[in-house]
Amino acid sequence: MIQLYIPLNFLGVIYREIKQSLADMERLFSLLDENREVADKPLAQSLMTQGAEVRFSHVNFSYESNRKILFDVDFTIAAGTTTAVVGHSGSGKSTLSRLLFRFYDVDGGAILIDGQNVCDVTQASLRQAIGIVPQDTVLFNDTIAYNIGYGRPGASHDEIVAVAKAAYIHDFIASLPDGYATMVGERGLKLSGGEKQRVAIARTLLKRPAILIFDEATSALDTRAEQAIQAQLKEIARSRTTLLIAHRLSTVIDAEQILVLDHGRIVERGTHMQLLAAEGLYAQMWMRQQVGPTEPDASPVTESMT
Ligand code: ATP
Repeated sequence: MIQLYIPLNFLGVIYREIKQSLADMERLFSLLDENREVADKPLAQSLMTQGAEVRFSHVNFSYESNRKILFDVDFTIAAGTTTAVVGHSGSGKSTLSRLLFRFYDVDGGAILIDGQNVCDVTQASLRQAIGIVPQDTVLFNDTIAYNIGYGRPGASHDEIVAVAKAAYIHDFIASLPDGYATMVGERGLKLSGGEKQRVAIARTLLKRPAILIFDEATSALDTRAEQAIQAQLKEIARSRTTLLIAHRLSTVIDAEQILVLDHGRIVERGTHMQLLAAEGLYAQMWMRQQVGPTEPDASPVTESMT
């Protein structure tokens, strides 16, 4: 009994931590095979996606009953387009992605994918439709090929190489003495944050989900690394419905829609140009970025938005 209790308890702790950071949610679900805080309805059907339009309809949410986090959040991500969410730290950006993945159920309103309420479909089909590139990717103690191939069990080596190329990680892998057979993770080769995110991008490209959640890393990057991430984001978001949780304004310029979240409320929405013309919170953030120092570590935008 005790022996059984300890590992389950341990899994519970890991579950909470991972849920918070969005890291490797897909892997964790396959370990637990269920989300313990929400449950499938008895007659839940599989989610059927066509273009995968995502709609947050008047969503209200609180983690704890005495503190509301989201207030009447209402927006639509048209099928195949990108919506970026920006806002100060704690404004509720990551909470949106946790709700879309149905880590929690909303308190009011609904989240719909192609008209189907995420609460009414099976969690397995919902997870299948959504790919996540988390801020921090936790790698398996296995080969780099395994870590990419996990995106779609049964994928061929050629397919793994193809997505690694698309994620700009192939040349790095090819330069390693053991190539794709290199062991990575805690007991293997340690990859940098950017390299790990590329592995996550390759994995997600292999999965080919209809919906993508891209949780931009908070850490400051130099201009070259940032340009590389933008190129990869374009690649992976192409013709996918994408929710981009942004910590840097430079990554959101091309988004079809930008939402500015402030204390759990959408206070502005529009394209980059529209928001600049509105001269509101977004324009202020943008101006601060323009006059700020170029050294990444001292970037005022990074400070103000994360
Ligand atoms: P950041 O840019 O720092 O990642 P964010 O805009 O993504 O912030 P969220 O992570 O969505 O913010 O958090 C919104 C609010 O919800 C914060 O005030 C946070 O303290 C609170 N919160 C987040 N997770 C939980 C939780 N598991 N239980 C209780 N409150 C939480």
